[in-house]
Amino acid sequence: MTAPSGIPTAAIATDFFHLIDGKLVSSETCLDVINPATGQVFARCPAASRAQLDQAVAAARRAQSDWKNTSYTERADFLSRMARALEARQDSLGELLTREQGKPLSQSQAEIGRGGGQLIGLSQIPIPVEVLLDNEQQHIELHYRPLGVVGIITPWNAPINLALGPIASALYTGNAIVLKPSPYTPLTTLKMGELMRDIFPPGVVNVLAGGDDLGQWMAEHPGISKISFTGSVATGKKVMASAAATLKRLTLELGGNDAAIVLDDVDPKAVAKKLFFACTVNSGQVCMAVKRIYAQEKIYGPLCAALAEEARAAALGSGMDPATQLGPIQNRMQYDKLVGLVEDTRRSGATILAGGEIPGGAGYFIPPMVATDLTDDARLVREEQFGPLIPVLKFSEVEDAITRANATDFGLCASVWTSDIDRGAAIAARLEVGTAWVNQHRATSPTVPFGGAKQSGLGRQYALMGLLGYMEPQVISVLKQ
Ligand code: NAD
Repeated sequence: MTAPSGIPTAAIATDFFHLIDGKLVSSETCLDVINPATGQVFARCPAASRAQLDQAVAAARRAQSDWKNTSYTERADFLSRMARALEARQDSLGELLTREQGKPLSQSQAEIGRGGGQLIGLSQIPIPVEVLLDNEQQHIELHYRPLGVVGIITPWNAPINLALGPIASALYTGNAIVLKPSPYTPLTTLKMGELMRDIFPPGVVNVLAGGDDLGQWMAEHPGISKISFTGSVATGKKVMASAAATLKRLTLELGGNDAAIVLDDVDPKAVAKKLFFACTVNSGQVCMAVKRIYAQEKIYGPLCAALAEEARAAALGSGMDPATQLGPIQNRMQYDKLVGLVEDTRRSGATILAGGEIPGGAGYFIPPMVATDLTDDARLVREEQFGPLIPVLKFSEVEDAITRANATDFGLCASVWTSDIDRGAAIAARLEVGTAWVNQHRATSPTVPFGGAKQSGLGRQYALMGLLGYMEPQVISVLKQ
């Protein structure tokens, strides 16, 4: 590997490899990985070439021809072994995840250790063979066949959690995979690749680190039948364009700007606690974090005050410190974007009740901010901030709140908070999103479909609906003699 100049190599971990055809391999070029709590490079890993992608795809295609003939039960057994292996490594992998991603260690360990629930949950869902017609003349059945090789591309906010659903879905349904993590957070995924090498037949699972160009080569690759992509709306559109030449199947899990509508029949303090967590978990770097709060007139003041109190009390620091609630922002580009949003909010004349000052020193730290008196066209309201900056907007009529919550091209999730659950469910049904919750936010399960409406995505992950996105329907139609 080439060593970039100026970095003391002894301090940098380099024990990271791609997994191609069951072998751990390196590359001629490499990626530097930064610890966001310090802003310093702490590890280096290989960056795959286009030739290495070709090798991985060829290996996956060879391996898939046998893998697809194993039974669902056998494949579920492989995935349950992987779940156990992840659980056994949750401490060491969790620590690595915090170093590269920044989130508190307990959350990283939960992402690894409890992530196996996705592998097991998805691989217990039966894939049906449907009899569509059976009479004296004809017998028609609908089967589902694996697609071939699935390319999985993940973002930097939850690299393991967001890989496990697509991994389980693709492998359980009889596909082989090529998995590519974000260049900002490749390390834990590469270590998970080592762990998968000990479980799956060579070539069934391939893991390659690399830059954005590797993602584009995957989306264009004629040997890959489907891309399961999680990331931003802008990149999702590029993936769709790159995939068009080969008409690849796509599942796109994209960004969101989730609204929470809070009615005036709730206890503002109790709801503020839950909403603050839903806004700021992983420092707000969650696709389905609450990103806009609409509060009804009567509780607007008390809710804002309670949110500000939560923000002032939140412990910001390194994810390795057990007292930390909010870790750093994962990368410099995202940090700069958030600093720009804070400045824009201040300039707009909004009232900043908490946060809004950016600390000096090392690391990409942004204190949680609660801002009020914003207009609907403020950047913080319209854009996906993907950080711990909370805009709170006032409404008097529920109709108005629904209209404003829906006035966006995003459509991932939303929530309604009320003591009248029937009324809450009726409002939720009018929100143009893939998931609308009542009195909760961020509740997901492998048995419940998840995905975005409008420009927040295409297709669904999880449940039978998600699994069938990794398969091709095939009609078998028999004319009886
Ligand atoms: P991103 O779109 O910048 O990158 C995601 C991945 O795509 C990375 O691995 C990157 O290397 C790769 N990539 C970049 N350019 C590519 C190209 N032209 N072709 C193919 N691949 C390419 O996203 P990010 O900044 O890493 O992640 C944050 C975004 O992800 C936010 O918008 C967030 O809301 C979204 N997200 C969505 C979900 C969901 O389930 N809907 C979950 C988590 C994150």
